[in-house]
Formats: sequence, C-alpha cells, structure tokens
Amino acid sequence: MKSTSKSKLKKLERTAYHEAGHAAASYLLGRRICRVSIVPDYKNGSLGHSAGHRLRNFHPDYDESDKTRLKVEREIMILMAGEEAEWFYSGRRNKEGARSDRHEVFKLMGYIDDDPDSWRLYCKWLRIRTRRLVINHIRWKVAIPAVAHALLSKNKMTGAEVAEAIQAAIQKEIAASVEAKAGPIVRRF
Ligand SMILES: [Zn+2]
Repeated sequence: MKSTSKSKLKKLERTAYHEAGHAAASYLLGRRICRVSIVPDYKNGSLGHSAGHRLRNFHPDYDESDKTRLKVEREIMILMAGEEAEWFYSGRRNKEGARSDRHEVFKLMGYIDDDPDSWRLYCKWLRIRTRRLVINHIRWKVAIPAVAHALLSKNKMTGAEVAEAIQAAIQKEIAASVEAKAGPIVRRF
C-alpha cells in the first residue's frame, strides 16, 4: 500500500472514530440521532457529521431549570465525545477537526454559566467525565468501535442502524463474558 493511500485510510479511520464517538455517546446518553456519516462535505469543510433530532422544549436561553441544564450537559458531552474518541483510538488529539464541536460547546456553556472561572471548571469537569466514559466504561468501549467499524464499511448510517450495531455488539460482549466466567464448555460424548 502506498503511503498516501495509507495516510488517507488512517484519516478516514480517525473520522470514523470521531463520528462514532458522537453517535455512541448520543445513543448511550439517551439522545436520538437521525444519521451519522463519514462522507466528506467539501462545501462546509467537514470530514463527517452526525445529526441529532431536534430537541423539543429545549430553550436554554431563558429556561434555567435543572432539567434543561442536564440536557445542555448531555449535548456538551456528545459534542466532546467525538474528539475524545478520536484521541483515545488514534492516539492523536485533533483540535482542528473538533473546532466546530468546541465552538458549539462554547456556545452551550454560555447558557449554564457566565462566570469565567466557574465556566472553565465546569467545562473541564464535563470533558473529564466524557473522557472517562470513552476510556473506561464497558458499554462505551464496546459501542464506539462497533459504530466506527460499521461506518468504515457503510460510510453512512441511520440512527436505527447505529442502535442496532451497538445493541448487537453489547449482546456479543455479554455473551462472551458469560462464557468466560463459565469456562470452556466441555462436551461429553
Ligand atoms: Zn465532531
């Protein structure tokens, strides 16, 4: 394989893990998504994208309830999960690729905090929380690669396909761990 196509593939893999991070986080945090894609959109300069359904009754600009704040936190974590997944699975932190995500995070954070010090700590806490889920949580560790692999073979997935891929991977993981605990099956003839 030529080095150019190899680096291209690596780029595509990184995009797949990035978008899988957003999609898996959405699914695991209970946020419905419409679609996820790793097809580049040269018009708006994005390598891939994931889109969630429009949130109903979501007005963080004037609704300061805890319920809305939790929804904002979830949106922020979904946005952060792309960069964190790409970093964890590729070993590279792609701040440039996550620029629009960071921009959205910045905007959303403005709804829940306006003091710069508290804002910074709150944002840092959400990033650490997201990172810990990506790195340590078994469901996330199963879901992100499952969606990334499916994306690499299909390029685009609907929300239903994402849910299906994650559920199948989690079931497989559960079956494997049950088998591991039970030990090898001894067949008697
Ligand atoms: Zn992103």
